[in-house]
Amino acid sequence: MSFASTGLCPALLDAVEQRGYAAPTGIQATAIPAILRGGDVLGQAQTGSGKTAAFVLPVLQQLLATHRATPRQLRALIVVPTRELAAQVGETVRGFAQSLEVPVKTVTVFGGVSINPQMMALRGGADIVVATPGRLLDLVDHNALRLAGIATLVLDEADRLFDLGFADELQRLLALLPPRRQNLFFSATFPPAVEALANGVLRQPARLKA
Ligand code: AMP
Repeated sequence: MSFASTGLCPALLDAVEQRGYAAPTGIQATAIPAILRGGDVLGQAQTGSGKTAAFVLPVLQQLLATHRATPRQLRALIVVPTRELAAQVGETVRGFAQSLEVPVKTVTVFGGVSINPQMMALRGGADIVVATPGRLLDLVDHNALRLAGIATLVLDEADRLFDLGFADELQRLLALLPPRRQNLFFSATFPPAVEALANGVLRQPARLKA
């Protein structure tokens, strides 16, 4: 399997090559084509499996299709359990987005720090937001974010989102999102809470394993 056969566009193929990725990891080989087909995905993947690029690359590619018509409209929302993971995923998105011809604006938000700089960063819109759940809802309550245009929702490390007590925040968030969207859930483990959420939200997901 090569990156070229995953369906990624030339600019993103260049980007993975520049990073020195010789071949897709297992989860990348299955998730990238599945995501580009537009369906929901339920991926079992640990840290270190290459799961971040597995969703970031196809999400960026899908963004390109609508970016020209509606730049800086929030299209993709990536929800993660911790600020460390938010920073890391945000950097991965920014790194790959740099290889694209169009400017993709990514904003990373998390709790435990002042909300004001994050509100400023969101002024004028963003294409992709990487967020922890509580701060995301705070920003929605401050009208700093518009969720109506979201085409793709990613939940990364879904099991840890529950471990850290974000069940209520996730339910509130899901109720705010447009119903027609692509859902990509990644988790290392599948305890009942994650299974229940996946069963309630995902539509005929591709079940993939790293
Ligand atoms: P992740 O599981 O997403 O946290 O990624 C773990 C590490 O693997 C990161 O440092 C990535 O840069 C790296 N990585 C991701 N995909 C590949 C690949 N196809 N080839 C080599 N390294 C990769």
